Amino acid sequence: MSKHENFVCPKCGAHYKLVRMPAPAHAPDLALRCKVCQQELASSDDGNILKYFLVGSARASSRQAAEGRRSEKLTQT
Ligand SMILES: [Zn+2]
Repeated sequence: MSKHENFVCPKCGAHYKLVRMPAPAHAPDLALRCKVCQQELASSDDGNILKYFLVGSARASSRQAAEGRRSEKLTQT
């Protein structure tokens, strides 16, 4: 079972699931970037490579909140 943790982009607030995996012998030294704002993210840590899975941007979560308010209004009328 792979261990994952939450990661929030320090620049734009996008939410990621961060997964650590043992680095392969010939790990490509690629810079990872935030999919939303292109902020450079750490690609390795303590002999592990890091993988980021976008779960939501700050903008997407505020839109969800707005939709929640709209459906509240509909039930009232
Ligand atoms: Zn970002």
